[in-house]
Amino acid sequence: MLTSSLPDHLKSSFSNMERVMVSIKIVFSFILLLSVSAFFTSCASETGGAEYKTADNRLKVVATTSMIADAVLEIAGDSVSLYSMMGPGVDPHLYKATKSDIDKISEAELILYNGLNLEAKVTDIFARMSSIKQTAAVAETIADSLLRYPSAFKGHPDPHVWFDVSMWRTVVNEIAAELCLADPKNEEYYKKNLNDYLDSLDVLNLWVKEQIESIADDQRVMVTAHDAFGYFGLAYDMEVLGVQGISTVTEAGLYDITKMIDLLTERKIKAVFAESSVSPKAIESVVEGCQARGHNIRIGGTLFSDAMGTKGTSEDNFLGMVRYNINTIVNALKYGKEYERASSH
Ligand SMILES: [Zn+2]
Repeated sequence: MLTSSLPDHLKSSFSNMERVMVSIKIVFSFILLLSVSAFFTSCASETGGAEYKTADNRLKVVATTSMIADAVLEIAGDSVSLYSMMGPGVDPHLYKATKSDIDKISEAELILYNGLNLEAKVTDIFARMSSIKQTAAVAETIADSLLRYPSAFKGHPDPHVWFDVSMWRTVVNEIAAELCLADPKNEEYYKKNLNDYLDSLDVLNLWVKEQIESIADDQRVMVTAHDAFGYFGLAYDMEVLGVQGISTVTEAGLYDITKMIDLLTERKIKAVFAESSVSPKAIESVVEGCQARGHNIRIGGTLFSDAMGTKGTSEDNFLGMVRYNINTIVNALKYGKEYERASSH
């Protein structure tokens, strides 16, 4: 049944919403206590936060998504101590802060998160932290006129800005500006690295355009597990439909899935796509629906949408992740073939 495609952990998170709110309040009180105590002990004491600072004098940065953490690494390298909250395969829409996250957030000197309600269950913590330490919702610096406001998301913007590489460029600039503000002694170094990284993003952006243009116009339809590729579709002229809508919090509707099956069957689209951070059940039901109508469609591969690949693979960084996605999309929609994963580096 399509309605059973919602993951169990998601069902329970709905029923536990009130407990979650109480937990957030308790957690925040705990953070405030830690922050206040760190403030009073940092000058004279050798314990707690002060001890950490003596051991490692680098700027302490917390980043939420792996895409933001990767930009920090490209710009700052080893000159900051970086804590990346959400690793490979993690869904940021559902992610809740762990004890370790709270410890790192309380120690951090700079907090970088996407914003636009992507990290829906931790945004509250960051909004409150912004009154006591440097905290930035880096995707919220994109001009409002460039944001998508899909009707299904009831007035909220689409937070998945990273797959329009030129839009992500704006965010990377903001990440660099925050690093320079927090750590001015390294400003020159950060700016040099930023310029090199922006050059790489520009090359990538052109390559993505060329690759997508090589797919026939009537085959440029991308059905994915959730609606993470809206900006990608606008930037590179691809029709994009997500089975689960813009956040994985909402469930796929039977009506939407039926319409998708109609479209895929009529246009003889060769493939749909799973995502590394979302359950494949809903997308599998689309494939089954098409096959029941005699249209032999397949899952063309698993795209990285809201998280990057496992450390040590070619997709453990933003440039590699985008290249992998594009190769997967082009192979599937042009030839109906699955892309052979590049070897690890
Ligand atoms: Zn998403």
